[in-house]
Amino acid sequence: MTLLFWLLVAGLVAYLAGRKGRRAWVWFLYGFAIWPLALVHVLLARPSHEALRARLVASGAQRPCPHCQELVRSDATACPHCGRDIGPTDGAWSPAPHDG
Ligand SMILES: [Zn+2]
Repeated sequence: MTLLFWLLVAGLVAYLAGRKGRRAWVWFLYGFAIWPLALVHVLLARPSHEALRARLVASGAQRPCPHCQELVRSDATACPHCGRDIGPTDGAWSPAPHDG
């Protein structure tokens, strides 16, 4: 095994972890130390709550309630979490731009 291979696999582990909302540099070190375990681990890891939330908002399927910030369906007119009126979207609301 060459050092380049280990760096590439550690980079792959870090990339996959970052896409799931995990701290990429931690996973890079993890992948560099024991890449076979880290690679399997990152493939099985669930996306973080924040990553899932960002994905739902970016897709337009859900939007944050302006009062309590909980996610609600985009077509909801009342928040099921706080019960307040959030009105129709009428095109005024749009998902935040995705920074990739
Ligand atoms: Zn609410």
